[in-house]
Amino acid sequence: MKAFTYDRVTSADEALAAGAGASFVAGGTNLLDHMKLQIVTPDRLVDLNRAGMDTIEPTAQGGLRIGALVRNSDLAADSRIIADYAVLARAILAGASGQIRNRATTAGNLMQRTRCPYFYDTALACNKRDPGSGCSAQDGHSRTLAVIGTSDLCLCQNPGDMAVALRVLDAGVEVAAPGGGTRTIPIAEFHQLPGDTLPVREFALEPGELIIAVVLPPPAGGTHYYRKVRDRSSYAFALVSVAAVIQPDGTGRIALGGVAPRPWASEGADAAIPHGAKAVAAALFEGARPQEDNAFKIDLATRTIAAVLAEAKEARA
Ligand SMILES: Cc1cc2nc3c(=O)[nH]c(=O)nc-3n(C[C@H](O)[C@H](O)[C@H](O)COP(=O)(O)OP(=O)(O)OC[C@H]3O[C@@H](n4cnc5c(N)ncnc54)[C@H](O)[C@@H]3O)c2cc1C
Repeated sequence: MKAFTYDRVTSADEALAAGAGASFVAGGTNLLDHMKLQIVTPDRLVDLNRAGMDTIEPTAQGGLRIGALVRNSDLAADSRIIADYAVLARAILAGASGQIRNRATTAGNLMQRTRCPYFYDTALACNKRDPGSGCSAQDGHSRTLAVIGTSDLCLCQNPGDMAVALRVLDAGVEVAAPGGGTRTIPIAEFHQLPGDTLPVREFALEPGELIIAVVLPPPAGGTHYYRKVRDRSSYAFALVSVAAVIQPDGTGRIALGGVAPRPWASEGADAAIPHGAKAVAAALFEGARPQEDNAFKIDLATRTIAAVLAEAKEARA
């Protein structure tokens, strides 16, 4: 293993002072796996676990501000989240295991990296891990990978559950820059599409930027759904997931997980909700580039959307 330095910080300012080259450690449940497999080999680790940022506070606008270090279990158990943002609690509880959720954090979960098998296998080409080496997935095993938002350089899927719920809720990611100042990145723009240039960039963060919070707008009302389809019923990543907020008049918002490099949603798909699952799926998958192995995800997603919309219709009857 390559040697690295390790520092504990006690504030966000101290973490930011660590500079652009440092890797932040939150729960460590993703980063440390990558270090053990030598997918990443950072020179410097900065441990955020004593830096605060671990509370959930109301905002002046009537929403909630979730600190970057709030653990996934604590967020899913918060009474305000359960009452007003149930899709978020359900998505978190559909992910990983109790032990991992006790450790994993809001920021770390958002920043979790793809589960593409070629990203994990350092003997094989992966443009994300080793820019310019190629994408083994293009002619390889792509069953779990993305069907839309991909490019010839990368077929990776975003594996997270929480981010899909945050997309449907229109959350913002608050980040602080090393030179001072903060900005809020809409969740829709936080995860990057691979595009046609190297290196394949994954997140909208600039070097050294630190996530300090995730901000939820005021509650959207409606009934909340999170349905995840996977190879086994727990402790597995989504083949397809659907997050939805459906209003009493049958309108709503919908986002998909497991099908793209980011939580996948569009205004056209939301507008199509009253017209049924096929119309929603047609809007969401316009321009899809499935591989032979993963084309089934489009049918699976359409059926999962249909199941959610049927459940919502029944609840309104
Ligand atoms: C066996 C297993 C099964 C899993 N199943 C699921 C699942 O079904 N669904 C799901 O959604 N997830 C699943 N996960 C992923 C899990 O949710 C993530 O590992 C976890 O959320 C990462 O959070 P963390 O705090 O441990 O991140 P870390 O590992 O500490 O960090 C991850 C990345 O985020 C960066 N980072 C952390 N905090 C900040 C910050 N404040 N600012 C900037 N960068 C930061 C780190 O530098 C690192 O690059 C699974 C994980 C495992 C190991």
